[in-house]
Amino acid sequence: MTSRSDNNLIVEPVARLIEEFGKLPGIGPKTASRLTFFLLRAEEEQSRALAEAIQAMREQVTLCTRCFNITVGEICPVCASPTRDQTKICVVEEPLDVLAIERTGAYRGLYHVLHGHIAPLEGTYREDLKIDELLARVRGEPVDEVILATNPNTEGEATAFLLLKDLAPLGVRVTRLSRGLPTGGDLEWADPDTLGSALEGRREL
Ligand SMILES: [Zn+2]
Repeated sequence: MTSRSDNNLIVEPVARLIEEFGKLPGIGPKTASRLTFFLLRAEEEQSRALAEAIQAMREQVTLCTRCFNITVGEICPVCASPTRDQTKICVVEEPLDVLAIERTGAYRGLYHVLHGHIAPLEGTYREDLKIDELLARVRGEPVDEVILATNPNTEGEATAFLLLKDLAPLGVRVTRLSRGLPTGGDLEWADPDTLGSALEGRREL
């Protein structure tokens, strides 16, 4: 029996869930099948809870209207907190980078999430990122330092360079995380100690 005829034995709703699991990062065909058959055997309540959690995530999660981090409601908890330093904005590529920096415990300022990096070959240009929104914040809020915490790779460096050009005329101090982070990597994979040191050792551009 070939694997093709095996596939024909799998009824459509099961095949469909295997296919959907298989689209997730890090999930190969074997794991996708294992997850699907696990849910098939498990109590119906477990499948319902999973489906409802996915739906609630899509319906309730929004972007903070100030820093564009993911949140529920208008303003995220960091922006809403009276104890955060309102004079510092740390610019990151993705919401996961905010979590990575929060884990270091070394930063008490605000954030700004760009939602990507400059990568013309991938079709991501300046206008696709929350750059104008950042410049508006620097003009309108009591900011004295912008920390460029884009990833230590080619795209992240190119994005930081572009931001520096945009920020320079605004008279704000612009800093970059110190070298020492694994080059080519993403902030989200850096260990908290290394990332905390890179933050504390940031240098003016
Ligand atoms: Zn926010």
